Amino acid sequence: MSSIKVKIGKVVIGGGEPIAVQSMLKTDPHNIPSSLRQLRKLERSGCDLLRMAIPDELSLETFRYLKQRSSIPLIADIHFHPQLALKAIRAGADKVRINPGNIPKEGLKEILRVSKGKGIPLRVGFNSGSLAAKFRNIRPLWKGLLLAAEDFLNWVSRFDFSDLVFSLKASTIEDTVEAYRDFSQRFPFPLHLGLTEAGPIPEGVVKSTIALYSLLKEGIGDTVRISLTSPPEVEVQAAFSLLDSLGLRKKNLTLISCPTCGRAHSSLYPLIRMVRALENEAKNPMVVAVMGCEVNGPGEASHADFGISLTQKGAAIFKKGKIVKRVSLNEIPQELAKELKSG
Ligand code: SF4
Repeated sequence: MSSIKVKIGKVVIGGGEPIAVQSMLKTDPHNIPSSLRQLRKLERSGCDLLRMAIPDELSLETFRYLKQRSSIPLIADIHFHPQLALKAIRAGADKVRINPGNIPKEGLKEILRVSKGKGIPLRVGFNSGSLAAKFRNIRPLWKGLLLAAEDFLNWVSRFDFSDLVFSLKASTIEDTVEAYRDFSQRFPFPLHLGLTEAGPIPEGVVKSTIALYSLLKEGIGDTVRISLTSPPEVEVQAAFSLLDSLGLRKKNLTLISCPTCGRAHSSLYPLIRMVRALENEAKNPMVVAVMGCEVNGPGEASHADFGISLTQKGAAIFKKGKIVKRVSLNEIPQELAKELKSG
């Protein structure tokens, strides 16, 4: 079933809009300078939507400060305290994420009333670990998630409020896929996809990819977060890689690189970072290769439109497998930038 559109600040999700990538601030919510630094990193990473936990009144100060400076729509993440949701909306929240399992109905009613008045959408998040008591022991677990979502929808139907996004997160792939699949067949609301407690790298990326791949392939999902025990910009990179692999994101530059081995002349990480930083400059679709040596690099990446192979003294630039130039490491960014602009 195609989903309805929901506007979160300048970003629209649902109804066939591009899938938005989101992440969450992981800094101390009372520390304004470090939260602002992380926000800036996320802006550079291309993150579309950003969530911040609001555990107490003091964090609202940080939220308000960031909201005034953020180019990314900010979502307030609220547990337990409806008053914090109301204050976050007044502080400029573009969306509020609530968990009906831990907010009393009276509080929810007030949040709906104020959100409706201000045109602020709500993400209603159901997590296998924090379902209301009556759904907690239902097996299979995904049925409990669905019944909780249905119960909320029955309750909310009397308030004429449909600016809703849903998530149904479990920590296993099967439960997550089944819950989202079933929900998407029956209800038209946009879905925020993700696994809960997915883990660190690589386990978290592998688990999330398997679950989200199945859903996205079926056209299910409007915004994604790859939750990882790692910096949030890594979550964004992982989400973009997943969308790229599925052809769900329009971008011109495709980066390939070798795994490196004993023949690599130095680390490829600085070059990879440099290429990523220029990613948005590509005018036309092109494949850029970053390879560790010139013995095998140009041959292994012979389909690349533009390649860089490290050499003993610097780097060899190659195109479609043929070396066309030798440059120093310092000259590589300008060579690539030239190619991206002319391509
Ligand atoms: S391109 Fe060179 S460094 Fe990279 S994996 Fe192949 S042989 Fe090793």
